[in-house]
Amino acid sequence: MTSAVHLRNVSRRYTVGTGEVFALRDVDLDIEQGEFVVVLGPSGSGKTTLLNLIGALDTASTGQVIVSGSEISSAPRHELFRFRRETVSFVFQSFNLFPTLTALENVQCAVEIAGRAKGAKQKAAAVLAEVGLAERVHHYPAELSGGEQQRVAIARALATGNPILVADEPTGDLDFHTGVQVLEVLQQQAALGHTVIVVTHNREISRIADRVIELSGGRVVRDGPPSGGKAAVADLHW
Ligand code: ADP
Repeated sequence: MTSAVHLRNVSRRYTVGTGEVFALRDVDLDIEQGEFVVVLGPSGSGKTTLLNLIGALDTASTGQVIVSGSEISSAPRHELFRFRRETVSFVFQSFNLFPTLTALENVQCAVEIAGRAKGAKQKAAAVLAEVGLAERVHHYPAELSGGEQQRVAIARALATGNPILVADEPTGDLDFHTGVQVLEVLQQQAALGHTVIVVTHNREISRIADRVIELSGGRVVRDGPPSGGKAAVADLHW
């Protein structure tokens, strides 16, 4: 299955009182399978709206949103349910792990809910090892650092097998150093073939990305390598 994302002249507007607010305006974007994209922009620039459209949690007012070959802007309801379950996984700022389940159980549970019960435990353990948590599988969230909890959340998103991962401010609750580590884990997953789209307002962290899409007032105002070129972790300003 292709996991490319295409937006064609997409706008999302809200009616507020007697006026209209554009959360996104005339956005054209192509994100290819295996790309690691960071979306930057100040609060209110449309970042969450963009992720929600890609994840079929919201629909465009005008234009086309095509994800993994499905035109979700016009898909019927039952197809959207399937799409949400099988195509896009979300990672949030606040981890959202079950506190009463271990790291392994949190990931296993997600795999089972995704309808892939057979081998779910082995799959969960393998993905936790991929994000560097092989030694932590039996720990409860409260016994893990913030960065480790976020890596469990990333493992949970990846273990479902969904080809696209979107992360809304996944480093927002983490210190700079841990935030960079989490971004690196996401980048590695893109190198393994997932399409990874990350929202951050942290310009410094975004310097390790290959591609940065900047939003302002609902429009794409910049799309390319980080300004100043791609940085190595060692070059970031702590
Ligand atoms: P960001 O994630 O960059 O902070 P959002 O995508 O959340 O931005 O919001 C973009 C713009 O759309 C903001 O001006 C916001 O106030 C507006 N907006 C978002 N959701 C709604 C809504 N449900 N009703 C009215 N305006 C909204």
